[in-house]
Order: sequence, then C-alpha cells, then structure tokens
Amino acid sequence: MSPRPTGKMPSTTMRPEILFPLFRPVTALPGVGPRNGKLIEKIAGGRVVDLCWHLPAGIIDRRFAPKIGEAPLGAIVTLTVEVDQHSPPPTKRLPYKVRCFDDTGFISLTFFHAREDYLLRTLPPGETCVVSGRIEEYGGERQMTHPDHIGTIEEIDQLQAVEPVYPLTAGLSPKSLQKAIKAAVADAPELPEWLDPAYLAQQKWPAWGEALRAAHTPEEEADLDPTTPTRQRLAFDELLANQLALSLIRADMRRRPGRSIVGDGHMRRAVIESLPYALTAGQVATGREIEADMGSAARMIRLLQGDVGSGKTVVAMLIAVESGAQAAIMAPTALLARQHAGALAPMAQSAGVKLALLTGNEKGAAREELLRRLERGDIDILVGTHAVFQEAVVFRDLALAVIDEQHRFGVHQRLALAAKSAAGDGNKTGELDILLMTATPIPRTLALTAYGDMDVSRLTEKPPGRRPITTRALPLDRLDEVVASLERLTAQGGRAYWVCPLVSESENVDLAAAEDRHAALAHRLGDRVGLVHGQMPAKQRDQVMAAFSGGAIDILVATTVIEVGVDVPEATVMVIEHAERFGLAQLHQLRGRVGRGADDSSCLLLYAPPLGEAARARLTILRDTDDGFKIAEEDLRLRGSGEVLGTRQSGLPQFRVADLAVHRDLLAAAHDNARLILERDPGLTGDRGQALRVLLYLFARDAAVRYLRSG
Ligand code: ADP
Ligand code: MG
Repeated sequence: MSPRPTGKMPSTTMRPEILFPLFRPVTALPGVGPRNGKLIEKIAGGRVVDLCWHLPAGIIDRRFAPKIGEAPLGAIVTLTVEVDQHSPPPTKRLPYKVRCFDDTGFISLTFFHAREDYLLRTLPPGETCVVSGRIEEYGGERQMTHPDHIGTIEEIDQLQAVEPVYPLTAGLSPKSLQKAIKAAVADAPELPEWLDPAYLAQQKWPAWGEALRAAHTPEEEADLDPTTPTRQRLAFDELLANQLALSLIRADMRRRPGRSIVGDGHMRRAVIESLPYALTAGQVATGREIEADMGSAARMIRLLQGDVGSGKTVVAMLIAVESGAQAAIMAPTALLARQHAGALAPMAQSAGVKLALLTGNEKGAAREELLRRLERGDIDILVGTHAVFQEAVVFRDLALAVIDEQHRFGVHQRLALAAKSAAGDGNKTGELDILLMTATPIPRTLALTAYGDMDVSRLTEKPPGRRPITTRALPLDRLDEVVASLERLTAQGGRAYWVCPLVSESENVDLAAAEDRHAALAHRLGDRVGLVHGQMPAKQRDQVMAAFSGGAIDILVATTVIEVGVDVPEATVMVIEHAERFGLAQLHQLRGRVGRGADDSSCLLLYAPPLGEAARARLTILRDTDDGFKIAEEDLRLRGSGEVLGTRQSGLPQFRVADLAVHRDLLAAAHDNARLILERDPGLTGDRGQALRVLLYLFARDAAVRYLRSG
C-alpha cells in the first residue's frame, strides 16, 4: 500500500495491449460524435468496454413478414413493398406521405418534419424496398409512421431480424446506441481463457468472446434471462475479477509486517469509568476482538459494522487510547469530525491523553502549531476529516487509523484512503493498524463483494433505553397535516428533518424541488427553517448543519446529504418526501437520524400514490422492523425485483453484469476460485495467471494488479 514511484511503471502493471481497442473512448467508434459520446458515457460509461457491458433489456422481433393486407394492427412487422408515389405535405404541420403497395393492398409511410431529398433517396418511386415498424390505421388506410428501419431488398436479412433493445437515456436514439454497441462488440478481441477448462466444461459455458456476442444477439425473451449460460459466464467473470482483486489487496496486507499493540488497560478503564452509561455486551465483545487483533504482530485491517446509533464511536475511542502511540480518527465531514471531537474530548481527558481536532477550518498559525505538536508527539489522538489526512499531515508515530462512516465508498477507495492518510512522510505506513467503521449493515453475501475476506466485528444490539421510533407512511396529499404537526412541534421547541429526494436525471431539477419545499415551509413556519444540499460549498453546508445542531434552526430541509452520521439528539421528527423513491438501506439510514435523545421520535414516509409493489414492500418492511441487518437482507431480496433506486448510496460495488440477487451461488464459487488461484500462483505468472491479469484489467481492477508480488 505504500505509494509507488510515479513515472515509469514496471511492465507487469500495464494494461495488456490486447485490451487497447476496448479501452478507447466511445467516440473512437464509427458514428459516435462528441454529443452521443457524452450521452453514452452517462448511461454506460466512456469506454468501448463499457458498451460491451451494456446488455439488452428487451428484444424487438422483426421476423414477422406478412403481406400488407394481412398485417395485424399494432404489430411490429417487416414489409417488402413497392414504392408508388411521394406526397409532400401541403403545410408544414401535416406529414409527408409515401404510398407503397404489394399484391394485397396499399400502405402509407408517414413522416413528420421530413427531409424530402433523404426520402427520395431511401424510398425511390418504382423500387422495391423493405420497411420495418408498427402497423397503424388512419382514415381507414394502413399506415406506418416513421418506420424504424428502411432498407433495400438486399438488406432484408438485416432488417427481418431480432433486434436487441437497450436501456436508453433522453436524447440518445435507440438506433445510434445499437450501432455503437454493435461496433464495440465487433471490436472485442478474442481473449485468452482465464477460467479453469474443467470448470468451464462442467458449467457448459461459452468462451468469453462468444458469450459477449451471444449476450448482444438475443433470439428470444428467454435469452435475456440472467441465468442463461451466456449471462452466467459474463457474471462469473465479473465476480471473479472482484474477488481476485480483493484477495490480492488482502494478501498484500498480510505480507506487510504489523506491530503488536498491547496496552495494560488502565487508560481504557479510566475512560469506561468516566462514561455516564455502562457499555453494552456488544461493545465489550467487539472491543475485545479489536484489541486481540491489534495485539497480534500481523497488520490489522478490520471492519466494525454497527447499525446507526449502535455506539461505535466509544469502541473506537477505547481502542485509540490504549494504542500506546498516536491514533487518527477520520470522519467524512468537518461537522462530523467536530462532533466526534466534542464527544471524545471528555473521554480523552479522563484517560489523560491529548486529543486535537483538525479540519479545513483550522487555519494559519493555530494550524501550524497543531501540526508541530502532532509531529513532536504532543498529540495522542487526532480527529479530522479524510481530506485533511490526505494532505501531508505528519505524525510522530501513528499506530492506528480509524475511518468512520465510509459506507459510500468501496473497499478499494477505503484502503487507498487509509494508505494515503498514513503516507505522510516519515510514517511507517506498513505498521499502521486500520479500523473501518460502517453503519451500513450488509448481508453476508454482499459483504463478500465489498470486503472480501476482511475481518469483521459486528455490533448488533443498541444501547439500552432507546425510545422506539414510530414509523408511518402517508400519501403526499396529507402534506398539510404534516406541516401543521411540525408547526406544533417547533412551537414546543422541537426539531425536525425534512428530506427531499435526489432522483431526477437533472440535479438542478431536484435542487429546485428542495428549494421550493424550503420556501413553502419557511412561508408557513418562519425563518427558523434551513436548507442544505449537495451542491452547496461544504463550508456553508456545515454552517447550516451546525445551526440546526445548535438550535438556531428548527427544521432542516435537506437532500440526502444528511444521511451520513449527523447526531442531533434534539431532533425527533424525520419527514421523508417521496419515500417511495428511496432504497431501503437509505431510508433506514435516514430514519436513524432521529430517536437519539430522551424524547419519542417519529418518521413520516410521505409517498406519491399509487405505490408500486416493491415500493410498498419497502415501506412496509421499514414500518415493521428497525433491525438493520434484517432490512439489509430484505433490501437485497427486493432489489432483485428490479427497482434499484438507492443502491448507489449503499457503498456496495456496482456490478455491470452480475446481479447478486440472482447470482449468489456464482459469487460463492468465484470466492473459492479466487482463493484457489492465488494459492497455486500468487504472482499470477503462469499462463492462466497471465490470462487472469487480462481479466482484472478488463474489469478495470488495475489497482489490484499492482498488489501482485513482483517476481
Ligand atoms: P454510531 O454507531 O451511529 O456511530 P454513536 O457512537 O454516535 O453511534 O453513539 C450514539 C449515541 O449512543 C451517542 O450519543 C453515545 O453517547 C450513545 N451511547 C454509546 N454507547 C452507549 C451505551 N452503552 N449506553 C448508552 N448510550 C450509549
Ligand atoms: Mg458514528
């Protein structure tokens, strides 16, 4: 994990030449200009290989080729017709018509905003042409408006075929996307086989190139099923790349020497005695697990998983005070760092260790002084933001890094962050123990994709005395009632969150919605209503959050930026507008922002009826349970049903082909496979090893290749 020298990379860590065609920008494909390139990048990604993974979601069957007179209304058909005459429209508002016929009757092809020269060229009068599209009727005549395809009789085989239908985005035509994908797939080289031949034969899977081509040329609906051999092969490749990459990172960690950190426990005891509460059994148990891990000579990379409000911070602190050297605690935002520092300072004091806060807000001479003290070793625990640690902060002897609430990122980023954070000059990075903390309960299957074999500690119970949160789902037309109840709440000095979704394709539209809501609430409730959103400068956002936390603001209207770890115990109401658009895990996280104080809390899920089946299921689950692990399992199950909004926030890897709700078994197999591969050929140097390197690059796991032992 140490920083590599920049400049010339050893040849073993360069993308193999065979993959170059696939890693060109999509604009290198014929017919893809800058405009379509941008749109393609938006839905699939910016490289040719991304188009290969953009698999069809449906088919259009154009094989049905009846005579005009027999073509059923509404059907997609491919007709062979003779062009009779062109009728340009008398006014611009009317369509251009091209009359065609066969021996059973006539049909009009109609075009709005037509270009006459183009139509005369593609449909010359007197010629036989092939057209494909939907049959309609207008004024008692058959017609086809804007045929999807027009071709010559020689092109009939291309037209009279099954056409893949791809997920689109506004502004991108199906035809140009199809064409681009076809070109991308045609560019895909034959790659060396990276799967074990015996396994391949046993599964009856095709080779990669064959699988790719087949996935893009479905013949019938059944070919779109994620369990066909074709799709399974591609999904397995993706999962294998994921598991292999994680195993490589993990193996690299294990090879690095750690250091054994064992305290005598007296500082820990002092902290525990100073706490106004008793530790839960879970806190004690996870604390012991982490301690044991730190005590061993190997390097620790451990994940502490615990639901929102389960009390992870104090566990981290108990570890940090006993580290015997310096410890860093990193939070994702300055506000959270400040909050942590505030909560931890009294504990540090009772243990007699020095704690300091470093965020972007500490500036000038004070910052310089703080950094000097840190380098001298006068500070034992430094609390700060990730951003701060990525700059050159120099510790005298950093032994432990705790990284909090990183559930928005994948493990690769997390570890890179950890490495970077410790890479300030003079630190012995290899000896750093790392504790990652996440509030996203992750089902075991998914944990495997995000963390591989990482050691995991789980806090499954919550501190006693928590008041349950009442969760209610209400249709949006009862919004007035909700606002009235907020009016009563704030009159009595209460505080509430109001979350607006980020869902439309345009952030500006979403932002406008949040701004409108803010304005409407401020109109009713006065100026103690604040607004935070993701496009605000972080500093300004922090200020509004701090005002809410300090009580200068009663109602905080927010886009989902508040999801991560804000702790305002006085806030007792969480309103989530358009709750049907959020994923389960996200709703659970948001709800976890309330119920942190002594008063009863409630969560109001405002939805726009009618609810879809999956959305209804999500809201019901949320109403019925508060168990994050159970919710996570349900989330995975439901996500399989296709509604995927909200997954991006979950911090899990986004697979292009694999669908974990369907391919769980493949994941387990990929996991075992990766382990076996590295046992036999840890440097991936053999023939199959070389092919597996290609696989890693194919799925952009370039970083993992660098963890391969050289030689
Ligand atoms: P999270 O796991 O979400 O980071 P925190 O560490 O912020 O949770 O803890 C949430 C709240 O619970 C804090 O106010 C903390 O002081 C309190 N807390 C932690 N442990 C206990 C405990 N054993 N008993 C009572 N309250 C606790
Ligand atoms: Mg926390």
